[in-house]
Amino acid sequence: MKVFKFGGASVKDPDAVRNVAAILEQNSGPLLIVVSAMGKTTNALEEVLRQAQHQLSFKAALQAVEDYHQQLATVLFSDSVHPVFAELTAQFSALRHYLGYLPAANPDEQYDQVVSQGEIISSLILYHYLAAQNFPATWLDCRECICTDNTWREARIDWPQTQQLIKAKVTPLLRNKIVVTQGFLGGTSENRTTTLGREGSDFSGAIFAYCLPAESLTIWKDVAGFLNADPKYFRHTHKYDEISYQETVEMAYYGASVIHPKTIKPLANCHIPLYVKSFLQPHEPGTVISEAKHGKLIPAFIRKDNQCLISFSVRDFTFVSEKNLSVIFQVLAELRFKINLMQNSAISFSVCTDYDAGRLQALKEQLQEIFLVQYNAGLLLYTIKNYTEESINFLTSEKEILLEQRTRATFQLVCREKEQEKQ
Ligand code: ASP
Ligand code: MG
Repeated sequence: MKVFKFGGASVKDPDAVRNVAAILEQNSGPLLIVVSAMGKTTNALEEVLRQAQHQLSFKAALQAVEDYHQQLATVLFSDSVHPVFAELTAQFSALRHYLGYLPAANPDEQYDQVVSQGEIISSLILYHYLAAQNFPATWLDCRECICTDNTWREARIDWPQTQQLIKAKVTPLLRNKIVVTQGFLGGTSENRTTTLGREGSDFSGAIFAYCLPAESLTIWKDVAGFLNADPKYFRHTHKYDEISYQETVEMAYYGASVIHPKTIKPLANCHIPLYVKSFLQPHEPGTVISEAKHGKLIPAFIRKDNQCLISFSVRDFTFVSEKNLSVIFQVLAELRFKINLMQNSAISFSVCTDYDAGRLQALKEQLQEIFLVQYNAGLLLYTIKNYTEESINFLTSEKEILLEQRTRATFQLVCREKEQEKQ
């Protein structure tokens, strides 16, 4: 059996959903489909929740999300009394009620209860659509088999339990059905919904592929495969036909947005190949990620936006010692900062992280007695994996460079960039 993962762009409108059905027509054999929220729904639900948490009126923003899904369903289902409409109405009323009476819970716990609805709704629409097209489809609530702890917004998987439940619940369904389920979600032992981190649906695909196990996982994207640079920012890109798990993990770690970094490990452990294919050109081979042995690849350019560079200087002119560093790391870990790059000098230590105003404020408050904490925001972090001098010259032109680092295989740069055309 195979696992297919369809991201938000591949189900963003009625034509896209029809295209998913066309792709499935070409595929025979048991299949599990993992689907993300439609289009930009996750961002929209984050905004709805933000408004509700700040006692602002969230009604219009939530109505827009509901209208988007209802309209999409109206185009897909000619039968105006199809049960999908009542299900959508029920889901949105429950969400409206929850947001209207937000229980006193951790905001991150509220986040998971609200933002998860994007995947529940998209999977319901896709399931009903496939069933209406006579696919032998069934709907699975993945929260019943992906078991996690309650690290809200970034839940950790209980692998033995998850594997046992997937084998018990999903394997029998796959004998004669196409199973449609959600990406990005999990459930705790108290039946609370959790999420696995933004863009986590790829990881969900890998969890199912590992636990079943599947013969392959295919991630359907709006690009031709795994490219050496994001075509949103770079004019010339090159597709890798074949690439190893190792290279992929490293590129994903540095921020290559094509695949969520946690996706590779479960697949590599079970030698399950990962295909990255275009849903617009489904017959093209795309990229295969496996144990492939290959020579040095052409340089990959990876860009991370919205970065900030934080520096910690010791207030008493002593050096930054291991003891100081352990204090800094302790607070960074408690506040769940992810360090994308770090560097230390005699009297200061710098880290590049994703910018988050709230966490930064908390960091300053906790450390300012010992350290002078300063930061620059609005920065970009570029990584060139497998760099050449030429690729570095190309990237560094016209940039204000704040920090630069290189190892044998990787060049990294924190910079400020003028808004400019594609490179
Ligand atoms: N819908 C979630 C997000 O946009 C998960 C995913 O798409 O992978 O982050
Ligand atoms: Mg997405």
